[in-house]
Amino acid sequence: SIPLGFFGGIGGASKRGILVKGSNFLEALNDVEIVVFDKTGTLTKGIFTVTQIQETAEIPSEKIIEYAALAESYSTHPIAKSILKSYGKDVDQSLLKDYKEIAGHGISVKVDGIALLVGNRKLMETEKIKYKDVKATGTVVHVAVDKNHIGYIVIADQIKDDSKDAIVGLKSIGIKKTIMLTGDNNAIASEISTHLGLDKYYAELLPHEKVERLEEINQGKSRKGKMIFVGDGINDAPVLARADVGVAMGGLGSDAAIEAADIVIMNDEPSKLVTAIKIAKRTRKIVW
Ligand code: ADP
Ligand code: MG
Repeated sequence: SIPLGFFGGIGGASKRGILVKGSNFLEALNDVEIVVFDKTGTLTKGIFTVTQIQETAEIPSEKIIEYAALAESYSTHPIAKSILKSYGKDVDQSLLKDYKEIAGHGISVKVDGIALLVGNRKLMETEKIKYKDVKATGTVVHVAVDKNHIGYIVIADQIKDDSKDAIVGLKSIGIKKTIMLTGDNNAIASEISTHLGLDKYYAELLPHEKVERLEEINQGKSRKGKMIFVGDGINDAPVLARADVGVAMGGLGSDAAIEAADIVIMNDEPSKLVTAIKIAKRTRKIVW
């Protein structure tokens, strides 16, 4: 049977907007040693804005954003949302054929027989597109038409106001390691990691590489220690499932993540994790 104190703990958490799906997860929070975060939508707001549209001599910026918006029109990725917002017009989806969203890379689609590629460095490299390397502070979205690079868009996200409190709070209650995993580029990951004082980060990861890293990180804890993964659910359901305790952001998060998670933070504030661990510690004192 479940000791009564757990109901108090779960109830107390739910009053603070933290949904705990079972007493075993609340109990596990007592032994957390490592907290692994996803970046986009978890430590950052997950709301990008377009900061630059880089045109070339032949192709004006209006055309570049139009191609990008066409390609992104079926995607629910935060990157796609920002590009569609910046474009600001309706997209004629009837023109689109052979649409493919490639996780951790971007989009491949045909428009009126033209082959469009919209995505990151990895996408350009796998498709053997020649382009000049770009140094920009932001996420760079390259645009290629019929295998020719025609320009790029730079988009920027913001760190959540609450993220610093979360990291400081976790340290103050004795969490040994805070780590970030991201599919985004190294420059951004490094900047965020320094700003927040994370112990480590891994960038430019594909979804399956996030799972591999998580398993590696998991080797670094003690026998009874637990590892938490906190994500927003876009492409991270497999990582959520692999952690001892999977925590999802409920606001921006996808239904799949909320389903896969053991704990859901309703208002998307990562510092709620500190609150949850404190509740778990109080609950253990009452129960045992
Ligand atoms: P994160 O780890 O930050 O949550 P994702 O795994 O969702 O990021 O994506 C990793 C990277 O793959 C993005 O930073 C972007 O460069 C590229 N990417 C993913 N989806 C798209 C898309 N719809 N359009 C353009 N680029 C994308
Ligand atoms: Mg993500």
